[in-house]
Amino acid sequence: MQQNNKQIYTEIKACRLCSSKNLQDVLDLGDQPPANSLRKGLNISVPCAPLKLLQCGDCSAVQLTATVEPSYLFSQYVWVTATSATARTYSETYCTEVLNRTGVKSPFVVEVASNDGTFLKQFKEKGCGVLGVDPASNIATNARNSGIPTLAEFFDVTIAKKILAEYQRPNIVMARNVIPHVKEIHSIVEGMSSLIDAEGIVVIEFHYAKIIAEELHYDSIYHEHLFYFSIKSLAALFSQYGLYPFDVFSSPISGGSLVLFFSKQHKELSTALNQLIETEEHSGLNAPSTWQQFGAKSKKHACNLRGIVAEYAKRGPLIAYGASARSSTLMNFAGLSSSQIECVIDRNPIKHGLYTPGTNIPIVSYEEGLAKLDGKHLLLLAWNFEEEIVQDLRASGFNGDIIVPLPNEVHIR
Ligand SMILES: [Zn+2]
Repeated sequence: MQQNNKQIYTEIKACRLCSSKNLQDVLDLGDQPPANSLRKGLNISVPCAPLKLLQCGDCSAVQLTATVEPSYLFSQYVWVTATSATARTYSETYCTEVLNRTGVKSPFVVEVASNDGTFLKQFKEKGCGVLGVDPASNIATNARNSGIPTLAEFFDVTIAKKILAEYQRPNIVMARNVIPHVKEIHSIVEGMSSLIDAEGIVVIEFHYAKIIAEELHYDSIYHEHLFYFSIKSLAALFSQYGLYPFDVFSSPISGGSLVLFFSKQHKELSTALNQLIETEEHSGLNAPSTWQQFGAKSKKHACNLRGIVAEYAKRGPLIAYGASARSSTLMNFAGLSSSQIECVIDRNPIKHGLYTPGTNIPIVSYEEGLAKLDGKHLLLLAWNFEEEIVQDLRASGFNGDIIVPLPNEVHIR
């Protein structure tokens, strides 16, 4: 992390998907440190990169201007799938939904960025052949140790060739929350396409831009998240590689994700997909005006939040809850500071004792934070788990105000 003088990013001059130079500014969230670069001490400086959203005037894809070096971003990575109970439960539903859309009895399933193998494990238990690909060698080793064969590689066209030569042709190729994060997006989609034949399916999960635009999730904008896809912009990318969507279901992860199914055949679209495409068109999600309004509303919202926090802080420092990538963007953009917020509670022990990037607020355990809460108020940065956290806090005896910044308007509980 001691490389603050080194530029850790490059900026695009053309759309990453269609090479158009017709790029429209949407929202400038300022220079920010990468959202997962938690500091070990206040004497360690963290480099910043522009956090700026724009939209391609031609293919309508919404994306960041800056590409931060993946070697920098992912060396900081602390998210492991199995740490989330929601993800574990969801992996069962996901497996059933995917298997329902293949006619093959015991399919061979390849997952790109398979993490610790939580999702592939479900397929293995149902009698499928499985293979994971994940660039983090320590995570790939853990997956192998738990019985999920995993290649410790960045997936691309070359790795796809290797899989075809050394294994067998997969019936299902899936990638969950990967496609929006990678600058080598063309090589990944091309590699996925090369893996399947006419009967195979490609399954893509991504955080749907519609909910970001409609509910003002500007806190889901951070450097790892390069693209903000609609069905239209994602389908346009995949069609470049001969893949066409035919079905969809909603995922509970990230507060509004979609799982889209692609095939090399032009299959009849499912009712669910037809309805979503129609709703997307009616909502104007791909229109420049929608994103211009999103930008203006986000600025106004952050300004309002800053005012509310400042009012509370006059009565004494607040305690915050949730030291995620999303909360890093939110606090930096709203200009919140360590003089207003004493500490941030987080349930992930890996983060305890570290400081939030850019805002330098110490991260503490639930127990430690709770002990400090007496007579104070709380800022709920992990607002996407609002009900669960509010219930826990009230059951613990906390009776101060809880400021919930999003979705939509700030509200107090
Ligand atoms: Zn474009």
